[in-house]
This record gives sequence, structure tokens and C-alpha cells, in this order.
Amino acid sequence: MKNIMFIAAPAAGKGTQAELVVQKYGIPHISTGDILREISKEDSEIGNYVAETLSSGKLVKDEITYQLIEDRLKKDDCKNGYIIDGFPRNIDQAYEYDRILEKLGYEVGNVIYINVDKNTLEKRITGRRICEDCNTIYNINDKNSSPQVESICDNCGGKLYQRSDDNLESFQTRYNTYEEKTAPIIEHYKKQGVLKEIDGNDSVENIFKKIDEIIRD
Ligand code: AMP
Repeated sequence: MKNIMFIAAPAAGKGTQAELVVQKYGIPHISTGDILREISKEDSEIGNYVAETLSSGKLVKDEITYQLIEDRLKKDDCKNGYIIDGFPRNIDQAYEYDRILEKLGYEVGNVIYINVDKNTLEKRITGRRICEDCNTIYNINDKNSSPQVESICDNCGGKLYQRSDDNLESFQTRYNTYEEKTAPIIEHYKKQGVLKEIDGNDSVENIFKKIDEIIRD
């Protein structure tokens, strides 16, 4: 299948939708945010730098993301398609991604822009909870996405946690960063003729239906 990229503001549901794509199509989900959260747990200079940057809501240095993306895309499981979420995050990263794709002989595939209003994002950000074992995402502000037992994952029984950057203060920084740095990449992919826009102010199921219509051909 074609590769898939999601572009969307923070808390627009990229991770949730990516997991649904993984369940249906079995392709790997590559999230720079998830990879960086793992690095942030390391007790090292880079681990501390990444942890501080993530909590502040700013972007980590481009060079750190280039190496980890290239190394990940080289793995065999990416050969039959993958979904990339959280990269590229600015125009320099978009040009670097073009170079990495060319080097590996891959196509950019379907670039899906999930458009969500800022008010909806603010509501989602404070309610998001994640399983520390299997990364399933819940939202306690939405009864359709809440866990059955408070703070416990329905899938594996793991404990749920709240991301250190899921508060309104970090959200404001992340949203401003998105508008200033990430939104311009939409034009980059429009020019390449690969951009598909969908309305993300909808239920998880309906958004997935719209994504599935794009990716299943
Ligand atoms: P996410 O899980 O996609 O919301 O990403 C969480 C945080 O990880 C972001 O706020 C950034 O600090 C960092 N991050 C994720 N992807 C990138 C990237 N491509 N470039 C720089 N920083 C990133």
C-alpha cells in the first residue's frame, strides 16, 4: 500500500487514527513523538535535553529527528508501506524528508491533513490519557473514548498516564509552533499534488472512515 503521512495540530487525533490504520492494514506506525518520549526516559545528556524540550512544547533540534527517521525507515518492515506521524514538522524537515525518500527509493504517498478547530483541540488535550504499557489513547472528556475503569487500560490492564505536555500552557506553545512552523508544509505537499484534506471535527469512527476512503485504493 502507499505510504501515509498525517499533518495535524497537536491533539487532533493523529495517534488514535494511526493506531486504527495499523489495526486494519498492519503497517508500522512511526511517530517521532513516541520515539522522542522513549529517548526522554534515558538518563543521559540527550535524554535530559529531549525531556525538557518536550515538556516546554517546543520542537527538538532538526538533526536529532533526521537520524532517527532515516534509521527507522531503513528497517525491513517499512518496505510495504508505513504511516508517519509527527514528521516533518517544519519546512526544512519536509525538504530533508524528500531527500530521505529519494535515497531509500520511497514515494511520499498519501499526505492527509486533518483539520480541527482550536476549541476542539483544547478540550481534547486536557482529557487525553495514554496506557503506559501498550500506548492506547483515551479521552476522559468524551464518554465514547473513556476507559471502562478509571486510570486502567481496557486492552491490557496497564496504568494510564497524562503526557507532561498535555496541559493548556504547553498546548498554547505547541499550537503556536504548529501554526508558525508546521502549517507551511501543507503548501509544500499541495504543490506536489499529494495533499488530501479532511474535516477532523468529528467522531473517531467518522474520521477513520474518511481516512480509509483515501488510503484503501
Ligand atoms: P507529538 O507526540 O507528535 O505531539 O510530539 C510531542 C513533542 O515531540 C513535540 O511537541 C516536540 O517537542 C517533539 N517532536 C515530535 N516530532 C518532532 C519533530 N519532527 N521535530 C521536532 N520535534 C518533534
